[in-house]
Amino acid sequence: MNFAEPDHIRMLRDTMRKFVDAHMSRSEAARWDQDNVFPRDVFDELAALGVMGLTIPEEYGGAGRDITATMIVIEELSRRSLAVSVPYIMAACYAGMNILECGSETQKSELLPLIAAGKMLFAYGWTEPDVGADLASVRTTAVRDGDMLVVNGHKRFCSGSEFCDYIYTLVRSGPADQRYGNLSFVLIPPHTPGVAISRIGSMGMKGAATTDVSFTDVRVPFSNLVGGPDAWNRGWQMLTGAGLDVEKLEVAAMGVGIASAAVDDAWNYANERKQFGKAISQYQAIRHKLADMHTRLMAARLMMYNASAMADRGERCGIETSMTKLFVTEAAKSIVLDSQEILGAYGYVKDFDVERYVRDVLLLPIIGGSSAVQRNNIANWMGLGR
Ligand SMILES: Cc1cc2nc3c(=O)[nH]c(=O)nc-3n(C[C@H](O)[C@H](O)[C@H](O)COP(=O)(O)OP(=O)(O)OC[C@H]3O[C@@H](n4cnc5c(N)ncnc54)[C@H](O)[C@@H]3O)c2cc1C
Repeated sequence: MNFAEPDHIRMLRDTMRKFVDAHMSRSEAARWDQDNVFPRDVFDELAALGVMGLTIPEEYGGAGRDITATMIVIEELSRRSLAVSVPYIMAACYAGMNILECGSETQKSELLPLIAAGKMLFAYGWTEPDVGADLASVRTTAVRDGDMLVVNGHKRFCSGSEFCDYIYTLVRSGPADQRYGNLSFVLIPPHTPGVAISRIGSMGMKGAATTDVSFTDVRVPFSNLVGGPDAWNRGWQMLTGAGLDVEKLEVAAMGVGIASAAVDDAWNYANERKQFGKAISQYQAIRHKLADMHTRLMAARLMMYNASAMADRGERCGIETSMTKLFVTEAAKSIVLDSQEILGAYGYVKDFDVERYVRDVLLLPIIGGSSAVQRNNIANWMGLGR
Protein backbone atom coordinates (compact mmCIF):
# COMPACT_ATOMS: atom_id res chain seq x y z
CA MET A 1 0.00 0.00 0.00
CA ASN A 2 1.21 3.49 -0.83
CA PHE A 3 -0.16 6.35 1.24
CA ALA A 4 1.77 9.14 -0.48
CA GLU A 5 -0.56 11.93 -1.55
CA PRO A 6 -0.69 11.99 -5.38
CA ASP A 7 0.17 15.27 -7.13
CA HIS A 8 -3.39 16.05 -8.21
CA ILE A 9 -4.59 15.66 -4.61
CA ARG A 10 -1.81 17.92 -3.31
CA MET A 11 -2.76 20.54 -5.88
CA LEU A 12 -6.45 20.23 -5.04
CA ARG A 13 -5.73 20.66 -1.31
CA ASP A 14 -3.66 23.72 -2.08
CA THR A 15 -6.47 25.17 -4.24
CA MET A 16 -9.02 24.50 -1.50
CA ARG A 17 -6.87 26.18 1.17
CA LYS A 18 -6.51 29.27 -1.01
CA PHE A 19 -10.28 29.23 -1.61
CA VAL A 20 -11.01 29.00 2.11
CA ASP A 21 -8.59 31.84 2.87
CA ALA A 22 -10.13 34.04 0.18
CA HIS A 23 -13.85 33.31 0.65
CA MET A 24 -14.40 31.81 4.10
CA SER A 25 -12.87 34.00 6.76
CA ARG A 26 -13.12 33.00 10.40
CA SER A 27 -15.45 35.91 11.10
CA GLU A 28 -17.77 34.92 8.23
CA ALA A 29 -17.80 31.31 9.41
CA ALA A 30 -18.79 32.51 12.90
CA ARG A 31 -21.59 34.60 11.39
CA TRP A 32 -22.98 31.71 9.32
CA ASP A 33 -23.01 29.62 12.49
CA GLN A 34 -24.61 32.34 14.58
CA ASP A 35 -27.30 33.18 11.99
CA ASN A 36 -27.75 29.58 10.78
CA VAL A 37 -27.53 30.67 7.14
CA PHE A 38 -26.36 29.01 3.94
CA PRO A 39 -23.87 31.31 2.17
CA ARG A 40 -25.09 30.74 -1.39
CA ASP A 41 -22.62 33.28 -2.82
CA VAL A 42 -19.65 31.32 -1.43
CA PHE A 43 -21.18 28.07 -2.69
CA ASP A 44 -21.46 29.59 -6.18
CA GLU A 45 -17.79 30.62 -6.06
CA LEU A 46 -16.92 27.09 -4.98
CA ALA A 47 -18.89 25.64 -7.89
CA ALA A 48 -16.85 27.79 -10.27
CA LEU A 49 -13.78 25.73 -9.25
CA GLY A 50 -15.41 22.66 -10.84
CA VAL A 51 -15.32 20.59 -7.64
CA MET A 52 -19.08 19.79 -7.68
CA GLY A 53 -18.32 17.48 -10.59
CA LEU A 54 -15.81 15.31 -8.69
CA THR A 55 -18.41 12.55 -8.32
CA ILE A 56 -19.60 12.81 -11.92
CA PRO A 57 -18.09 11.33 -15.11
CA GLU A 58 -16.93 13.72 -17.82
CA GLU A 59 -19.61 12.51 -20.28
CA TYR A 60 -22.20 14.13 -17.97
CA GLY A 61 -20.28 17.36 -17.53
CA GLY A 62 -18.33 16.33 -14.44
CA ALA A 63 -14.62 16.23 -13.65
CA GLY A 64 -14.51 12.40 -13.49
CA ARG A 65 -15.46 10.34 -10.45
CA ASP A 66 -12.75 10.71 -7.78
CA ILE A 67 -13.84 9.81 -4.24
CA THR A 68 -10.50 10.68 -2.64
CA ALA A 69 -10.60 14.15 -4.19
CA THR A 70 -14.22 14.61 -3.06
CA MET A 71 -13.20 13.75 0.52
CA ILE A 72 -10.31 16.24 0.39
CA VAL A 73 -12.77 18.99 -0.59
CA ILE A 74 -15.08 18.04 2.30
CA GLU A 75 -12.12 17.92 4.71
CA GLU A 76 -10.74 21.31 3.69
CA LEU A 77 -14.13 23.06 3.74
CA SER A 78 -15.00 21.47 7.11
CA ARG A 79 -11.78 22.85 8.60
CA ARG A 80 -13.46 26.22 8.41
CA SER A 81 -17.23 25.78 8.21
CA LEU A 82 -19.91 23.11 7.87
CA ALA A 83 -22.17 25.84 6.44
CA VAL A 84 -20.29 25.31 3.16
CA SER A 85 -19.11 21.69 3.43
CA VAL A 86 -22.59 20.26 4.10
CA PRO A 87 -24.16 21.99 1.06
CA TYR A 88 -21.16 20.71 -0.94
CA ILE A 89 -22.06 17.18 0.20
CA MET A 90 -25.71 17.86 -0.70
CA ALA A 91 -24.61 18.59 -4.27
CA ALA A 92 -21.62 16.39 -5.06
CA CYS A 93 -22.62 13.40 -2.94
CA TYR A 94 -26.33 13.35 -2.15
CA ALA A 95 -27.27 14.47 -5.65
CA GLY A 96 -24.26 13.46 -7.77
CA MET A 97 -23.50 10.05 -6.31
CA ASN A 98 -27.12 8.94 -6.04
CA ILE A 99 -28.23 10.01 -9.49
CA LEU A 100 -25.13 8.50 -11.08
CA GLU A 101 -25.66 5.23 -9.24
CA CYS A 102 -29.43 4.95 -9.11
CA GLY A 103 -30.90 7.41 -11.62
CA SER A 104 -32.53 6.46 -14.95
CA GLU A 105 -30.65 7.44 -18.10
CA THR A 106 -33.04 10.41 -18.53
CA GLN A 107 -32.41 11.57 -14.94
CA LYS A 108 -28.65 11.23 -15.42
CA SER A 109 -28.57 13.26 -18.62
CA GLU A 110 -30.90 15.94 -17.22
CA LEU A 111 -29.62 16.28 -13.66
CA LEU A 112 -25.91 15.40 -13.62
CA PRO A 113 -24.79 18.41 -15.73
CA LEU A 114 -26.78 20.71 -13.41
CA ILE A 115 -25.25 19.09 -10.33
CA ALA A 116 -21.73 19.42 -11.78
CA ALA A 117 -22.43 23.12 -12.38
CA GLY A 118 -23.47 23.63 -8.74
CA LYS A 119 -27.09 24.31 -9.69
CA MET A 120 -28.70 21.34 -7.98
CA LEU A 121 -28.68 20.27 -4.34
CA PHE A 122 -30.52 17.37 -2.69
CA ALA A 123 -31.60 17.15 0.94
CA TYR A 124 -32.09 13.71 2.49
CA GLY A 125 -35.63 12.92 3.65
CA TRP A 126 -34.97 9.55 5.26
CA THR A 127 -35.40 9.83 9.04
CA GLU A 128 -38.92 10.07 10.52
CA PRO A 129 -40.24 10.81 14.01
CA ASP A 130 -40.38 7.07 14.81
CA VAL A 131 -37.67 5.93 12.42
CA GLY A 132 -33.96 6.41 13.10
CA ALA A 133 -31.44 3.67 12.39
CA ASP A 134 -34.17 1.24 11.29
CA LEU A 135 -34.82 2.89 7.92
CA ALA A 136 -36.66 -0.13 6.52
CA SER A 137 -39.61 0.82 8.71
CA VAL A 138 -40.37 4.24 7.16
CA ARG A 139 -44.07 5.12 7.08
CA THR A 140 -44.19 7.94 4.53
CA THR A 141 -46.14 6.50 1.58
CA ALA A 142 -46.11 7.03 -2.17
CA VAL A 143 -49.07 5.81 -4.21
CA ARG A 144 -49.28 5.89 -8.00
CA ASP A 145 -52.15 7.85 -9.53
CA GLY A 146 -51.82 7.67 -13.32
CA ASP A 147 -48.81 9.78 -14.32
CA MET A 148 -48.48 11.16 -10.81
CA LEU A 149 -47.23 9.99 -7.41
CA VAL A 150 -49.08 11.03 -4.26
CA VAL A 151 -46.91 11.28 -1.13
CA ASN A 152 -48.09 11.47 2.48
CA GLY A 153 -46.06 11.36 5.67
CA HIS A 154 -43.59 13.14 7.88
CA LYS A 155 -39.79 13.40 7.75
CA ARG A 156 -37.59 14.60 10.60
CA PHE A 157 -34.05 16.05 10.67
CA CYS A 158 -34.18 16.83 6.95
CA SER A 159 -31.16 19.15 6.69
CA GLY A 160 -30.96 21.85 4.04
CA SER A 161 -34.58 21.31 2.89
CA GLU A 162 -35.16 25.10 2.83
CA PHE A 163 -32.69 25.70 0.00
CA CYS A 164 -32.42 22.33 -1.75
CA ASP A 165 -33.85 21.64 -5.20
CA TYR A 166 -35.16 18.19 -4.34
CA ILE A 167 -35.77 16.24 -1.16
CA TYR A 168 -34.44 12.75 -1.88
CA THR A 169 -37.29 11.06 -0.08
CA LEU A 170 -37.41 7.46 1.10
CA VAL A 171 -41.00 6.22 0.84
CA ARG A 172 -43.00 3.06 1.34
CA SER A 173 -44.36 2.21 -2.06
CA GLY A 174 -45.94 -1.20 -1.53
CA PRO A 175 -47.57 -3.49 1.05
CA ALA A 176 -46.23 -2.84 4.58
CA ASP A 177 -45.48 -6.51 5.28
CA GLN A 178 -42.68 -6.61 2.71
CA ARG A 179 -40.16 -4.73 4.81
CA TYR A 180 -37.33 -4.44 2.30
CA GLY A 181 -39.23 -5.05 -0.94
CA ASN A 182 -41.53 -2.05 -0.88
CA LEU A 183 -39.34 1.02 -0.58
CA SER A 184 -38.61 3.61 -3.26
CA PHE A 185 -36.92 7.00 -3.62
CA VAL A 186 -38.87 9.99 -4.92
CA LEU A 187 -37.55 13.45 -5.81
CA ILE A 188 -39.80 16.06 -4.19
CA PRO A 189 -39.22 19.79 -4.80
CA PRO A 190 -39.59 21.52 -1.41
CA HIS A 191 -41.98 24.16 -2.76
CA THR A 192 -44.56 21.65 -4.05
CA PRO A 193 -48.08 22.29 -2.67
CA GLY A 194 -48.63 20.10 0.41
CA VAL A 195 -45.00 20.28 1.62
CA ALA A 196 -44.60 22.07 4.98
CA ILE A 197 -41.17 22.75 6.47
CA SER A 198 -40.34 23.87 10.01
CA ARG A 199 -36.95 24.30 11.62
CA ILE A 200 -35.64 22.17 14.46
CA GLY A 201 -33.32 23.97 16.88
CA SER A 202 -30.03 22.05 16.83
CA MET A 203 -26.75 22.42 18.69
CA GLY A 204 -24.42 22.52 15.69
CA MET A 205 -24.10 21.94 11.93
CA LYS A 206 -25.53 25.38 11.32
CA GLY A 207 -25.97 26.66 7.77
CA ALA A 208 -27.86 23.67 6.41
CA ALA A 209 -30.57 24.03 9.05
CA THR A 210 -32.23 20.77 9.98
CA THR A 211 -36.01 20.63 9.66
CA ASP A 212 -39.25 18.72 10.03
CA VAL A 213 -40.96 18.17 6.69
CA SER A 214 -44.55 17.00 6.29
CA PHE A 215 -46.14 15.82 3.06
CA THR A 216 -49.93 16.13 2.71
CA ASP A 217 -51.25 14.75 -0.59
CA VAL A 218 -48.11 15.98 -2.33
CA ARG A 219 -48.33 15.27 -6.06
CA VAL A 220 -45.21 14.91 -8.18
CA PRO A 221 -44.82 13.37 -11.66
CA PHE A 222 -44.21 9.61 -11.73
CA SER A 223 -41.00 10.46 -13.61
CA ASN A 224 -39.65 11.78 -10.26
CA LEU A 225 -39.31 8.16 -9.13
CA VAL A 226 -35.55 7.70 -8.86
CA GLY A 227 -34.37 5.09 -11.36
CA GLY A 228 -37.47 5.22 -13.59
CA PRO A 229 -40.47 2.82 -13.65
CA ASP A 230 -38.34 -0.33 -13.18
CA ALA A 231 -37.05 1.06 -9.89
CA TRP A 232 -40.46 0.94 -8.18
CA ASN A 233 -39.93 -0.88 -4.85
CA ARG A 234 -36.14 -1.11 -5.37
CA GLY A 235 -35.29 1.55 -2.77
CA TRP A 236 -33.60 -0.82 -0.33
CA GLN A 237 -31.06 -1.95 -2.95
CA MET A 238 -30.35 1.72 -3.71
CA LEU A 239 -30.00 2.58 -0.03
CA THR A 240 -27.53 -0.21 0.68
CA GLY A 241 -25.52 0.03 -2.58
CA ALA A 242 -21.96 1.26 -3.02
CA GLY A 243 -23.11 4.82 -2.24
CA LEU A 244 -23.51 3.83 1.41
CA ASP A 245 -19.74 3.39 1.70
CA VAL A 246 -19.16 6.91 0.42
CA GLU A 247 -21.82 8.28 2.81
CA LYS A 248 -19.79 6.99 5.75
CA LEU A 249 -16.62 8.56 4.35
CA GLU A 250 -18.31 11.96 3.97
CA VAL A 251 -18.94 12.11 7.72
CA ALA A 252 -15.39 10.90 8.39
CA ALA A 253 -14.01 13.65 6.14
CA MET A 254 -15.99 16.25 8.07
CA GLY A 255 -14.43 14.83 11.24
CA VAL A 256 -10.88 15.00 9.88
CA GLY A 257 -11.49 18.62 8.84
CA ILE A 258 -12.90 19.78 12.18
CA ALA A 259 -10.27 17.85 14.18
CA SER A 260 -7.47 19.27 12.09
CA ALA A 261 -8.70 22.84 12.71
CA ALA A 262 -8.95 22.07 16.43
CA VAL A 263 -5.39 20.72 16.59
CA ASP A 264 -4.04 23.81 14.83
CA ASP A 265 -5.95 26.22 17.07
CA ALA A 266 -4.91 24.42 20.27
CA TRP A 267 -1.29 24.21 19.10
CA ASN A 268 -1.13 27.95 18.41
CA TYR A 269 -2.94 28.84 21.60
CA ALA A 270 -0.59 26.67 23.69
CA ASN A 271 2.40 28.48 22.23
CA GLU A 272 0.94 31.91 22.89
CA ARG A 273 -0.78 31.50 26.25
CA LYS A 274 1.56 32.15 29.18
CA GLN A 275 0.89 31.07 32.77
CA PHE A 276 3.37 30.97 35.67
CA GLY A 277 5.86 32.83 33.50
CA LYS A 278 6.03 30.52 30.48
CA ALA A 279 4.00 29.29 27.51
CA ILE A 280 1.63 26.50 28.54
CA SER A 281 3.08 24.44 25.63
CA GLN A 282 6.13 23.96 27.85
CA TYR A 283 4.17 21.94 30.41
CA GLN A 284 4.34 18.22 29.87
CA ALA A 285 0.58 17.78 30.39
CA ILE A 286 -0.12 20.06 27.41
CA ARG A 287 2.75 18.76 25.25
CA HIS A 288 1.61 15.16 25.62
CA LYS A 289 -1.98 16.06 24.91
CA LEU A 290 -0.98 17.84 21.69
CA ALA A 291 1.27 14.95 20.66
CA ASP A 292 -1.61 12.50 21.22
CA MET A 293 -4.02 14.71 19.28
CA HIS A 294 -1.67 14.85 16.31
CA THR A 295 -1.15 11.09 16.45
CA ARG A 296 -4.88 10.32 16.51
CA LEU A 297 -5.43 12.81 13.70
CA MET A 298 -2.83 11.14 11.53
CA ALA A 299 -4.36 7.69 12.17
CA ALA A 300 -7.81 9.07 11.33
CA ARG A 301 -6.57 10.69 8.14
CA LEU A 302 -4.79 7.55 6.95
CA MET A 303 -7.87 5.43 7.56
CA MET A 304 -9.96 7.85 5.56
CA TYR A 305 -7.51 7.97 2.64
CA ASN A 306 -7.16 4.19 2.61
CA ALA A 307 -10.92 3.61 2.51
CA SER A 308 -11.37 6.36 -0.12
CA ALA A 309 -8.68 4.78 -2.30
CA MET A 310 -10.45 1.41 -2.01
CA ALA A 311 -13.71 3.03 -3.10
CA ASP A 312 -11.90 4.68 -6.03
CA ARG A 313 -10.53 1.30 -7.10
CA GLY A 314 -14.08 -0.07 -7.05
CA GLU A 315 -13.23 -2.58 -4.32
CA ARG A 316 -15.75 -3.78 -1.75
CA CYS A 317 -15.01 -1.66 1.31
CA GLY A 318 -18.07 -1.89 3.58
CA ILE A 319 -16.02 -3.06 6.56
CA GLU A 320 -13.25 -0.50 6.00
CA THR A 321 -15.69 2.39 5.57
CA SER A 322 -17.57 1.36 8.73
CA MET A 323 -14.29 1.12 10.66
CA THR A 324 -13.29 4.51 9.27
CA LYS A 325 -16.60 6.17 10.16
CA LEU A 326 -16.44 4.68 13.67
CA PHE A 327 -12.80 5.45 14.43
CA VAL A 328 -12.52 8.85 12.75
CA THR A 329 -15.66 10.39 14.22
CA GLU A 330 -14.86 9.14 17.73
CA ALA A 331 -11.22 10.28 17.35
CA ALA A 332 -12.36 13.68 16.07
CA LYS A 333 -14.65 14.05 19.06
CA SER A 334 -11.86 13.30 21.53
CA ILE A 335 -9.39 15.55 19.69
CA VAL A 336 -11.80 18.48 19.73
CA LEU A 337 -12.62 17.98 23.43
CA ASP A 338 -8.88 17.91 24.17
CA SER A 339 -8.40 21.14 22.25
CA GLN A 340 -11.20 22.72 24.27
CA GLU A 341 -9.39 21.69 27.45
CA ILE A 342 -6.14 23.29 26.24
CA LEU A 343 -7.93 26.57 25.63
CA GLY A 344 -9.41 26.40 29.10
CA ALA A 345 -12.12 29.02 29.62
CA TYR A 346 -11.55 30.38 26.10
CA GLY A 347 -12.56 27.01 24.63
CA TYR A 348 -16.00 27.54 26.12
CA VAL A 349 -16.85 30.97 24.76
CA LYS A 350 -18.10 32.08 21.37
CA ASP A 351 -15.16 34.39 20.67
CA PHE A 352 -13.10 31.29 19.84
CA ASP A 353 -13.89 28.80 17.06
CA VAL A 354 -13.21 25.81 19.31
CA GLU A 355 -16.63 26.33 20.90
CA ARG A 356 -18.20 25.75 17.47
CA TYR A 357 -15.97 22.76 16.71
CA VAL A 358 -17.27 21.12 19.89
CA ARG A 359 -20.93 21.61 18.91
CA ASP A 360 -20.27 20.38 15.36
CA VAL A 361 -18.11 17.37 16.16
CA LEU A 362 -20.56 15.92 18.70
CA LEU A 363 -22.97 15.26 15.83
CA LEU A 364 -20.64 13.09 13.78
CA PRO A 365 -20.84 9.81 15.74
CA ILE A 366 -24.67 10.13 15.61
CA ILE A 367 -25.41 10.74 11.91
CA GLY A 368 -24.69 8.54 8.90
CA GLY A 369 -25.07 5.39 11.02
CA SER A 370 -24.23 5.78 14.71
CA SER A 371 -21.08 4.34 16.26
CA ALA A 372 -23.17 1.48 17.68
CA VAL A 373 -24.57 0.71 14.23
CA GLN A 374 -21.04 0.71 12.73
CA ARG A 375 -19.88 -1.69 15.46
CA ASN A 376 -22.82 -3.97 14.64
CA ASN A 377 -21.90 -3.85 10.94
CA ILE A 378 -18.24 -4.59 11.56
CA ALA A 379 -18.97 -7.56 13.84
CA ASN A 380 -21.66 -8.93 11.50
CA TRP A 381 -19.67 -8.53 8.30
CA MET A 382 -16.59 -10.07 9.88
CA GLY A 383 -18.73 -13.10 10.68
CA LEU A 384 -18.90 -12.90 14.47
CA GLY A 385 -21.37 -15.59 15.62
CA ARG A 386 -24.68 -14.43 17.11
C1 LIG B 1 -28.30 17.88 13.10
C2 LIG B 1 -28.84 16.64 12.47
C3 LIG B 1 -28.92 16.55 11.10
C4 LIG B 1 -29.47 15.43 10.49
N1 LIG B 1 -29.63 15.42 9.12
C5 LIG B 1 -30.36 14.42 8.56
C6 LIG B 1 -30.74 14.49 7.18
O1 LIG B 1 -30.39 15.44 6.48
N2 LIG B 1 -31.54 13.52 6.68
C7 LIG B 1 -31.97 12.46 7.44
O2 LIG B 1 -32.68 11.60 6.91
N3 LIG B 1 -31.59 12.33 8.74
C8 LIG B 1 -30.81 13.29 9.31
N4 LIG B 1 -30.49 13.23 10.65
C9 LIG B 1 -30.93 12.09 11.41
C10 LIG B 1 -29.81 11.14 11.73
O3 LIG B 1 -29.36 10.51 10.57
C11 LIG B 1 -30.38 10.20 12.80
O4 LIG B 1 -29.73 10.56 13.95
C12 LIG B 1 -30.23 8.78 12.50
O5 LIG B 1 -31.17 8.46 11.54
C13 LIG B 1 -30.39 7.88 13.73
O6 LIG B 1 -31.63 8.12 14.33
P1 LIG B 1 -31.75 8.49 15.86
O7 LIG B 1 -30.69 9.46 16.19
O8 LIG B 1 -33.16 8.83 16.12
O9 LIG B 1 -31.34 7.18 16.65
P2 LIG B 1 -32.03 5.80 16.92
O10 LIG B 1 -31.90 4.92 15.72
O11 LIG B 1 -33.37 5.96 17.52
O12 LIG B 1 -31.03 5.28 18.03
C14 LIG B 1 -31.00 5.77 19.38
C15 LIG B 1 -29.81 5.13 20.10
O13 LIG B 1 -29.92 3.71 20.01
C16 LIG B 1 -28.76 3.17 19.36
N5 LIG B 1 -29.18 2.08 18.48
C17 LIG B 1 -30.15 2.09 17.53
N6 LIG B 1 -30.21 0.90 16.91
C18 LIG B 1 -29.26 0.10 17.48
C19 LIG B 1 -28.84 -1.23 17.27
N7 LIG B 1 -29.39 -2.02 16.33
N8 LIG B 1 -27.82 -1.70 18.03
C20 LIG B 1 -27.23 -0.91 18.98
N9 LIG B 1 -27.61 0.36 19.23
C21 LIG B 1 -28.60 0.88 18.49
C22 LIG B 1 -28.15 4.33 18.57
O14 LIG B 1 -26.75 4.15 18.41
C23 LIG B 1 -28.45 5.51 19.47
O15 LIG B 1 -27.50 5.58 20.49
C24 LIG B 1 -29.89 14.32 11.28
C25 LIG B 1 -29.78 14.40 12.68
C26 LIG B 1 -29.27 15.53 13.27
C27 LIG B 1 -29.20 15.58 14.76
